[in-house]
Amino acid sequence: MGADPAYRAVVPPIYLSTNYVFPDPSTAGPYDYSRSSNPTRDQLTDALATLEGGVGATAVGTGLAAVTLIAEAFVPGGGRAIVQHDSYGGTWRLFSYLASQDRFEVEFVDFNDEAAFSEALGRGADLVWIETPSNPLLRITDLARTSEKAHAVGAVVVADNTFLTPLLQRPLEHGVDIVVHSTTKFINGHSDVVGGAAIAADPQVHERLRMWANALGLTAGAFDSYLALRGLRTLDARLRVHAENTSALMTLLDGHPAVSKLHWPGLRSHPQHKLAKRQQSGFGSLFSLELVGGAPAVGAFLDGLQIFHLAESLGGVESLICVPATMTHAGMTPEARAEAGISDGLLRFSVGVESADDLMTVVDEALARALAVS
Ligand SMILES: *Cc1c(COP(=O)(O)O)cnc(C)c1O
Repeated sequence: MGADPAYRAVVPPIYLSTNYVFPDPSTAGPYDYSRSSNPTRDQLTDALATLEGGVGATAVGTGLAAVTLIAEAFVPGGGRAIVQHDSYGGTWRLFSYLASQDRFEVEFVDFNDEAAFSEALGRGADLVWIETPSNPLLRITDLARTSEKAHAVGAVVVADNTFLTPLLQRPLEHGVDIVVHSTTKFINGHSDVVGGAAIAADPQVHERLRMWANALGLTAGAFDSYLALRGLRTLDARLRVHAENTSALMTLLDGHPAVSKLHWPGLRSHPQHKLAKRQQSGFGSLFSLELVGGAPAVGAFLDGLQIFHLAESLGGVESLICVPATMTHAGMTPEARAEAGISDGLLRFSVGVESADDLMTVVDEALARALAVS
């Protein structure tokens, strides 16, 4: 991240200036106008590109602005995008809306259904959109194999790495062309800034993203970039506590009589545990579950639940719980949710960095309440 070149400040200053002085009319300095480029935003993108092992990163205003950027830059008019069927609800909605405007064609496919994925590729693809682990069921997609198959038909391959961050998964090393982040989540980590980024493996791809981000006016603000950078400094330390707390909760939840289904890639019972182990260097702190008692049990579990806030989003220092069907994934049609396996009684957890003992205590109490009504 480098120190401040002017006064050697340990924390670099925020450059809020919208414009920069030209040395003379025919020469621009390193910066001219902050939509195009800004020193604070560049510090964030340098750090993200380094962490993901890319040649460059583009920082934009939200995670969905990063999705917009990639869709606009890499799917031509009348082209085709193949999107994982259980990708983030907002990603699903954005691709659906663009397709409904006849901007391009989109096909939502279960990437773990090899035959369905191959058939979809057979109809052609400009863009293939992976999200692994997926939200909220934590399904894993094989990055290397999916990229190889998509490249064979000439598609650009994108992986949404929001759930794991480059410290737990580096998709570019598995053949992916562009990594996308909602920096709102773990990268910033303090639930106080909305942001997004796209990191490219290839200089031409990076240049195209940079150019389109400026042309579409999507670039991130200086203050948001500063906050995301501040969060990034503690990412490694935060992730270690998130992981510790998640493992502790698993000892309580795995096999508990109130729990009918538990989705976390770190469990040996997860259908893709081996794949997760191979392509990730950690299992993340997101998990979801279904309760034996269905809807009444969900009500009892949530009623009086301490520490966990009932809120959307994830990846912050505070523990959160949500009901995807009515919250994060309400933008999907009921049919699309059913198709993606998101039941009305599913609960998604984002484990924070509070005391593990306290988290265990409140979840234990909630499970007892759920069991009592089952
Ligand atoms: C939150 C999220 C997004 C969208 O990001 P915003 O910053 O909310 O626009 C995209 N993908 C995943 C996996 C997310 O969790």
